[in-house]
Amino acid sequence: MPTYIVLLGPPGVGKGTQAKLIAESTGLPHISSGDLFRENIKNGTKLGKLAQSYIIKGDLVPDDVTIDMIRERLCQSDCKDGALLDGFPRTTVQADALANLLSEFNGKVNFVPYITASEAVLLERLNGRWTCRAQGHVFHEKYNPPQKIGVCDFDQSQLYQRDDDKAETVTRRIQVYFTQTAPLIAYYRERGLLTEVNGGQPIDKVTANLLAVLRK
Ligand SMILES: [Zn+2]
Repeated sequence: MPTYIVLLGPPGVGKGTQAKLIAESTGLPHISSGDLFRENIKNGTKLGKLAQSYIIKGDLVPDDVTIDMIRERLCQSDCKDGALLDGFPRTTVQADALANLLSEFNGKVNFVPYITASEAVLLERLNGRWTCRAQGHVFHEKYNPPQKIGVCDFDQSQLYQRDDDKAETVTRRIQVYFTQTAPLIAYYRERGLLTEVNGGQPIDKVTANLLAVLRK
């Protein structure tokens, strides 16, 4: 039976970094719904065009379009042993839809690691982020500072703070995340699938804890 992992975590907790590390360690492909959207739109697929027609109007992409994209992705050969899902589901309705989808592959959600940290820790991490104008390289004042303040190490272009990474926006993003995902957290907890992992630890410790969860 394939293994499906749903990785949850608020903005700033290092979910993207951990997803890559876990994918490398387990050999399961990392499927980020954001990346799936971008790839489908970039490649002009039928589903990509459909998704774009909603995005252009400022509407949310309907769940069935997202589910269809994930289904196509899960049909690819590298997903035969399962996958690590990131960014989907976000709601309990989507969680039910995902359960139906995975049953088509004779599978189910096996693990839901929830990387979390206090709002203060998340704020500190997100507030110090600087992005390079040329290629989007990301630095952090404290955890990953560039060699020269305000300049990208890789291409020497200027670093700036994205609107998303400014203090008021960051506070709101974190609060919105906790409010919106509370029902989803409860959903997986009730089903005995959720395990909290302390995201306030160093990166390698978080990875070790996540891998321990997946070995259970
Ligand atoms: Zn750069």
